[in-house]
Amino acid sequence: MNRRGFLKRSGAASLLWLWPRGLVPKSPFRRVRPSDPGWPSEQAWKRLNEAVGGNLLPVNFPLNACTSAPESAECKALFANLKNPYYIGDSPGVTQTLGWVDAWATKPSVYAVAARNAADVAAAVNFVRENHLRLVVKGGGHSYQGTSNAADSLMIWTRHMHGITMHPQFVPQGCETTHAPQRAVTVGAGTIWLEAYDAVTTKAGGYVQGGGCTTVGVAGLVQSGGFGSFSKHYGTAAGGLLEAEVVTADGKVRVANACTNSDLFWALKGGGGGTFGAVSRLTLRVRELPEHAGGANFTVKASSDDAYRRLIRQFVGFYREALFNEHWGEQAHFSADNTLEISMVHIGLDTEQSRKVWQPFLNWLAQTSAAYTIASPPRIGSMPAQHWWDVDWRRENHHDVFKADTRPGADPANVWWNGDGGQVGWVVWGFESLWLPASLLQDDSQEKLANALFAASRWSEVELHFNKGLAGAPPEAIEAARDTAMNPAVCGAFALAIVADGQGPAYPGIANHEPDVAKGRKAAGAVHRSMNELRGVASNGGAYVSESNYFEADFQHSYWGANHARLAEIKKKYDPTGLFFVHNGVGSEEWSPDGFIRL
Ligand SMILES: Cc1cc2nc3c(=O)[nH]c(=O)nc-3n(C[C@H](O)[C@H](O)[C@H](O)COP(=O)(O)OP(=O)(O)OC[C@H]3O[C@@H](n4cnc5c(N)ncnc54)[C@H](O)[C@@H]3O)c2cc1C
Repeated sequence: MNRRGFLKRSGAASLLWLWPRGLVPKSPFRRVRPSDPGWPSEQAWKRLNEAVGGNLLPVNFPLNACTSAPESAECKALFANLKNPYYIGDSPGVTQTLGWVDAWATKPSVYAVAARNAADVAAAVNFVRENHLRLVVKGGGHSYQGTSNAADSLMIWTRHMHGITMHPQFVPQGCETTHAPQRAVTVGAGTIWLEAYDAVTTKAGGYVQGGGCTTVGVAGLVQSGGFGSFSKHYGTAAGGLLEAEVVTADGKVRVANACTNSDLFWALKGGGGGTFGAVSRLTLRVRELPEHAGGANFTVKASSDDAYRRLIRQFVGFYREALFNEHWGEQAHFSADNTLEISMVHIGLDTEQSRKVWQPFLNWLAQTSAAYTIASPPRIGSMPAQHWWDVDWRRENHHDVFKADTRPGADPANVWWNGDGGQVGWVVWGFESLWLPASLLQDDSQEKLANALFAASRWSEVELHFNKGLAGAPPEAIEAARDTAMNPAVCGAFALAIVADGQGPAYPGIANHEPDVAKGRKAAGAVHRSMNELRGVASNGGAYVSESNYFEADFQHSYWGANHARLAEIKKKYDPTGLFFVHNGVGSEEWSPDGFIRL
């Protein structure tokens, strides 16, 4: 029961003066807003600015330009920029996801500390604690749940902390007698993955496990677990974390690794961003890179529902036989128009090998050609793995895979995958995920899985992300993931199912750019029904914290499974007063939805 609501309804509040001293409920702790008398003075802000080397910024909200003049050239230019993740990354006042219908809309902080180092981060944390402010941490700004924006807050903005150092022989601090030196890379918390891949893969010929999307931030991704296209081979990004430098709620700059603050280290590996501290630096394993990486892309359309059922059933069996291994990741999509879209990647196979893998499936399609149309013909092959993120090489070889930052003077290396373009500046209508256990691939379960995929696809497009479930990965990758805070379901899942829908840039109150609430609600219902069909065969699957429903039921169990209890203890130890708050984060139950009032 909501205790405060009950007191109000029962009229008990008016009798409070009758209560003996000491039994009077204390008024709840409230964080301070700019309109409150306790808001820090100009002088106090000035001192913070000095403490952070002049890097305290008032945060501009670019969408203001549109509220007053939605047809202005400035507003048009802004909406064009809201399709550019580098513009958004460079702007502390907006986020990659602009909002979620019936959940949240991006709001600017009052000030941001554009941190340059851990000392700046610590100064911001101390200022927030001493002045009872709402804190928010923004890295790459890609949170779907809106956890890197908060109105009336002070932001720690890590965009400028993107130094990268390679280590041929790294040993975590304090692990000198227990850990052999290994190749590693240290990245500032504001680094985006493309910068890390450029240094580690393109320039140094190694591999660091990061995210698929080039503009996601390293700290946000690692703290949620983190998958990249090749995670079926290398495991999660959190599994590759060797050490973090992190500022905790007491303002201390701590090192966390397997030997020092090991509980905090474990929590940072998948326990969720913005919850245990502000990370200033991360050191990640660097791995061997095979010679080849590549892809398989094509789309098949079935002529009837029955033919589509057979196609899905055939694909499920083929996946188990040929693709359920450490080589193959990324996606298959199942749609209401009876198409199967394959958009997969592989690592460690040359062109001939990768084509050979798919031949049996392509042969089956050819034999049953009356029922199927190849809507886009198979493109299967490989390329030198070292050039996977090499923007120049891709351009020279006419690989039309990236969109580029076209702002005047922009770095030509600022690119993002074409496939991620739809989510830049978007507004979510519905988004749900579910890990599908590998037991569904057993002979006697394949039919059940195929039927559930068909039924789910009637409501909304279903995506299977094979690289986001670790069943089929090498044992070492699975072991490393088991030693993280993520829901252990990830280790036994062959894929993460995602069903999501949304629209391009929009914002409430801006004429001709409003989110379509009616359509959004309908889509959210369809997303939910679709996912329920899959829940019917994977009831205890769990969801990936970073790619899940804002309204996730039983989020503690869904995101972290049995690990939640330990996470809650670690939260209490390092952040007993709840300085770090994010929606549906560990410990968030103790706060109002906006993180301002302790319940
Ligand atoms: C287009 C797109 C593609 C994506 N692709 C993938 C993918 O391939 N694989 C995958 O696993 N996920 C993917 N995601 C999800 C993404 O990994 C998460 O949303 C991730 O948390 C984003 O991190 P960020 O730093 O970019 O975002 P932010 O929104 O800045 O941060 C996310 C959370 O982490 C916190 N945080 C950020 N920096 C710090 C820090 N230094 N210290 C403490 N807390 C911090 C923030 O407060 C926030 O709560 C994708 C998201 C989008 C929008």
